[in-house]
Amino acid sequence: MAAEEVKKVVAKKVKEPPRPEDLALDVASQQMITRSREMEIETIFDRAQTMKPCNIGAQGTCCKNCSQGPCRLPLPKGGIEGEDTRKGLCGATAHTIAARNFARMVAGGAAAHSDHGRGVAEAFLAAARKEVDDYHIKDTKKLLEIAPDYGVDITVEGKDGEILDRDIDEIAVEVGENALAQFGQQNGEVCTTLRAPKARVDLWRKLGVMPRGIDREIVEIMHRTHIGVDQHYENLVEQCSRAAIGDGWGGSMIATDLQDVLFGCPYPVKSSANLGVMKEDHVNIVIHGHEPLLSEMIVQAAELPEMIDLAKKNGANGIQLSGICCTANELLMRHGIPLCGDFLQQELAIITGAVDAMVVDIQCIMENIATVAQCFHTKIITTNPRARIASGDTIHIEFDEHTAFEDAKKIVKTAIENFPKREKEVMIPDERHDLIAGFSYEAVEYHLGGTFRGTYYTLNDNIINGRIRGIGGVVG
Ligand code: SF4
Repeated sequence: MAAEEVKKVVAKKVKEPPRPEDLALDVASQQMITRSREMEIETIFDRAQTMKPCNIGAQGTCCKNCSQGPCRLPLPKGGIEGEDTRKGLCGATAHTIAARNFARMVAGGAAAHSDHGRGVAEAFLAAARKEVDDYHIKDTKKLLEIAPDYGVDITVEGKDGEILDRDIDEIAVEVGENALAQFGQQNGEVCTTLRAPKARVDLWRKLGVMPRGIDREIVEIMHRTHIGVDQHYENLVEQCSRAAIGDGWGGSMIATDLQDVLFGCPYPVKSSANLGVMKEDHVNIVIHGHEPLLSEMIVQAAELPEMIDLAKKNGANGIQLSGICCTANELLMRHGIPLCGDFLQQELAIITGAVDAMVVDIQCIMENIATVAQCFHTKIITTNPRARIASGDTIHIEFDEHTAFEDAKKIVKTAIENFPKREKEVMIPDERHDLIAGFSYEAVEYHLGGTFRGTYYTLNDNIINGRIRGIGGVVG
């Protein structure tokens, strides 16, 4: 589809669109919203104006869990406090339907984060077994710290009863195998949940919400929410807790642990953020999604002298990497690669006209970036078999951990060769802000006590005595 035709498709007219400054506090976003309107390119800020949420959907009482539905349960007479006699065809009450819908949201979120953890565990195990050339165990200190939590001994008794260090490669393989096993485990408790304070673990056990296995709890939500299974909202929500703990203290925690061991534990690093981190005279590669497996390779590929030479041959002064969403965070924390935007800025980044390639993996990728990209020269490159885009002219360069570096080089080359094809005027907002990132658990502990007295006491004491009023967590 030609760019002009795309514009006709995407441009939606709103009678009185709100001012950009009413839609975003951020000046760079305001400028790009203005530009999107001038170019008649639709973004999430326009869709938010035209989207009319369904009343019943907003209450969580529309059920589509079997083919007799959808069963739509409007508000009872007298509003939310009124007597509720509403029922679906199968007799499911509004409470049951709302709890089922919520449970499926929990299952979706837990599945997404945990499947990320599984992908990391697979790459970690391949690296530990030396089945891949491009990944290596980098942070052995962290490996030795986490190994006991995965039930792996780090010492062994010698012939004369002396305590000897175990081989680091053997430890890595066992940690990888045990981490991967947590996903399919059928009984017992997910091992990393036992890191929680004892009182918390005791409470979880008392309430019966300790997860048995990461996948099992997600599958059980899908089973219980099927027609005619769990019809008790409290019982359903209890299963939500089991799946959520399995994700937060299991799948997601495993991802963090193993990424740190593979790529290094983050330590404070200076960088900057916002659309202004892109450079007009550079090849701009924006990395967007959630996993660091591929993007770590892209960082290395973009630094190759042959790639920098190729960029210069194509008229650029260099290669500028930047990121969006969690993949960006991974690169920011470990390499100081700047953030060019957040979730809401992914379309706006393309509207600068400066993005030569947006490389996406999994999660939080708006389908509409493919349509916006058609109005520019930008190539959208999908890389994960789980996450492809049907709209637009996306390219799929599949990432495989066995050929990781070669895949990354192919992607960087594609972006470089796209640089001379810029057709629209480039307009990068002059907005960027300095920041320091990389405050991992380990880094905070070190900074509060040094190598020999690393501790959280100082922080805890000052929160308890009120000198520190609180800590803000920005969680993706
Ligand atoms: S499960 Fe019950 S409420 Fe849901 S769609 Fe089927 S019949 Fe309707």
